[in-house]
Amino acid sequence: MDCSHCFEELHEECGVLGLYGVGDASRSAFLALQALQHRGQQACGLAMAGPDGQLQVHKGAGLVKDVFSERALAGLEGCTCIGHVRYPTTDVGGMENIQPFLLACHAGRFALAHNGNIVNAASIKTRLESLGHLFSSTSDSELIAHLIGTGPKSQGWTEKIMAAANQLDGAFSTVVLADGRLYAFRDKYGFRPLSIGRLGGGYVIASETCALDALGAGFERDIAPGELVVIGPEGLQSFRHSRHAERRMCAMEYIYFARPDSVIEGIGVHAFRKRTGRLLFEEHPVPADIVVNVPESSMSAAVGYAEAAGLPLETGLVKNMYVARTFIQPDQSMRDVGVRMKLSPVRSIVHGRRIALVDDSIVRGTTSRQIVRMLRDAGATEVHMLIASPKYAWPCFYGIDTASRDQLIGSDHSERQICAYIGADSLHYLSERALFEAAGHTGLCTACFNGAYPTSLYDRKF
Ligand code: SF4
Repeated sequence: MDCSHCFEELHEECGVLGLYGVGDASRSAFLALQALQHRGQQACGLAMAGPDGQLQVHKGAGLVKDVFSERALAGLEGCTCIGHVRYPTTDVGGMENIQPFLLACHAGRFALAHNGNIVNAASIKTRLESLGHLFSSTSDSELIAHLIGTGPKSQGWTEKIMAAANQLDGAFSTVVLADGRLYAFRDKYGFRPLSIGRLGGGYVIASETCALDALGAGFERDIAPGELVVIGPEGLQSFRHSRHAERRMCAMEYIYFARPDSVIEGIGVHAFRKRTGRLLFEEHPVPADIVVNVPESSMSAAVGYAEAAGLPLETGLVKNMYVARTFIQPDQSMRDVGVRMKLSPVRSIVHGRRIALVDDSIVRGTTSRQIVRMLRDAGATEVHMLIASPKYAWPCFYGIDTASRDQLIGSDHSERQICAYIGADSLHYLSERALFEAAGHTGLCTACFNGAYPTSLYDRKF
C-alpha cells in the first residue's frame, strides 16, 4: 500500500474471512488471511468449529505468518472457521480487542469477526449495560456479538442475527460461526466489501476477492447490502435483514485500500484506478517530462495518467520494503526520518526533469511536502502534484482510521494553500464527477470528500 499514508495515519480498517466445508481449513485460512494482510497488520485470529462441534480460537498481535505457527495450525482441526486481520480504528489496540470474539448465550457459544464501525454503538452499549451485559473490550465487534446474544430463546441463529443487524447503523461486514454454520452479512449501505467464492464443495467468504484467488476459489458473487447469507448442510440461503438497502461502497476502497488485483462489486480495482488516472489527465494536463507515482497504491492511477498524456512513467521514487516497524508507525518526531527511510528519489531519473507526481490522496500534507522537497533536492525542475481523488476534508466514521477534522489539511485549506504548503508548482485533485465516472455509477460513499455522510452520526464528533 501507499507508504505515504503509513506516515499520515490513514489506515486500512480490517479484513474478514469465513470458510465452510473446506478441508484443512486452518491452512487455507492461513493463506487467505495473508492475502488480506494489507487490510490490517496489527493483529489477527481464527475461530474454528472442531470435529466435536466445540469452538477453538487462536489469535494474537502481529502478522499472520508470526501469529500462526505450524503447531498452532495443526491444533485447529476442522473445515469451518472464521478469521480476521485488524488495524485498530475507534478502539485501542489491546489484546482484548483482537478478533474473532468468542461469546456464549442461551443458544450456545458462537464466534464473530467484523469490519467497519457502528455509528450508534454508544447508545446500544448503554442499553445493553443497563440490562447487565459486561463488555471485556472497547470493540464494536463485541457489541454486535452481545446484541446477537440478547435475542429471545425462541429465536434461531438466523433470526437473532437479523434482529441484531436491524438495530445497528453504520458499517458492518460481519462473519459469525454458530451451530456449525457460517453466517455472513453486510450493512444496508454495503460500505465494506464482502464476497462469496466456491472451493470444491465448500464456500469461502472474504473481504476481498484476492483472498479467493489465493485459495484458487471461484468467485460466486458479492453479498448484497442488507443481505445475510447462511451456509450450512442445506447449502447457501439468503435473507434480507434490511429492506432499505442503498448502495454506498466506500470510495476509498477503490482509491487506496483494496489490493489492485481485487474486484469489488464487479469493478476491478486496478482498472478503476487506471481510469481515475486517465480522467485526472483529462481534467488536469500539466507541463511535464515524466510521470512518477508515489509508491505503491497510486501506481495504477499513474499508469492511466501517463498513457493518456503520452508521457513515460518512470521510477522516480523507490520504496524500501524492509524498514523496521518502528518507522512505519512513528510518533510525530520520527516522521521526517521515517519518510526518508521509506522513500528515496532516483536522482538519475528526476534530475533536470519536470515531474507529474501522482498520489492517491493527501491527508495531513506532511508526507507530500517531504516528497516534493526530496524530488527538488534530487534536481527536479518542476513538481506538479496530481491527486487521483477529490480533496480529503472530512473524517470517516465507517471503519477508516482518519485524523480528526482539524488534522486534515483539506478541511480548512484551499487547493492553493495546500499547494503552497507542500511546495509543489501546482496541485490538482480529481473531481467527484470523474470519480463516479471511473466507477460507472454514483453508488459510492464520498463523505470524506464532501461531508455528506450516508447515515446519521448520532453523537459522533469531528
Ligand atoms: S467516509 Fe470516506 S473512507 Fe469512510 S466509508 Fe466513506 S468514502 Fe470510505
